[in-house]
Amino acid sequence: MSSRQYLIAANWKLNGNTELANEIFAELQNTLVDNSIEVLVCPPALYLGGIQAKLQNDYQPLSDKLKLGAQTLSAYQQGAYTGELSGAMLKEFGASYVIVGHSERRALFSESNQVVAEKFAACLSQGLMPILCVGETLEERETEQTFAVIEQMLTSIVERNGVEAFANAVIAYEPVWAIGTGKSATSEQAQQVHKFIRQFVAKLSAVTADNIKILYGGSVNPSNAAEIFAQPDVDGGLIGGASLKSAQFKELCEIAKSA
Ligand code: PEP
Repeated sequence: MSSRQYLIAANWKLNGNTELANEIFAELQNTLVDNSIEVLVCPPALYLGGIQAKLQNDYQPLSDKLKLGAQTLSAYQQGAYTGELSGAMLKEFGASYVIVGHSERRALFSESNQVVAEKFAACLSQGLMPILCVGETLEERETEQTFAVIEQMLTSIVERNGVEAFANAVIAYEPVWAIGTGKSATSEQAQQVHKFIRQFVAKLSAVTADNIKILYGGSVNPSNAAEIFAQPDVDGGLIGGASLKSAQFKELCEIAKSA
């Protein structure tokens, strides 16, 4: 029997500020006391240092329970790459996780599976935990390519990072058609893909498959979370819109605690 703890991760995208972090920390103070779930907040990277300081100075009891992460990173370590932020820089300012391969990065910033695999490698080389996002578009689902697309996304990570790639990683299943649309996958759809992902990892390592957290992301909110989180291969959520409302985010954490 696995001892996987639920992880509730907030992806703020290009939203939020230090004040939102303050609201969320105030809201979560009493929720996280018992260490029964893990919570992660991924603000825009510019805010990481200030939010880390706020956490340590004003919310000390939360600071070893609530982690901070970034939404992307450079595939490069250093050099002439204007505008980029390396894993080491993000780590210095409080990140311990990084989201890689979010569908918005893939679609809007042309990140191919190869680029995502490089970014995944950049995380591992800095001891940062990658949260690898995989998921199909609506067209891919309707043409029954869901599993093939996800398998290719996972395979390209293994080709670059080896069979141990997922030993220190999180995977998030995020159907593209469910992100920010208000139309979540059903719990059955989520479970089917999560099981497929865990089986893929099991072919590399049974131990890693048992330990790895597989999050669901795509229009999770307090009214659909309980059913999704109750699925055997769902270990929490990557939350976009609902992570910007501190009361809703807290509710999602409470649902995970009792899932
Ligand atoms: C996301 O961007 O990762 C996400 C899941 O967004 P939302 O919850 O708004 O669908």
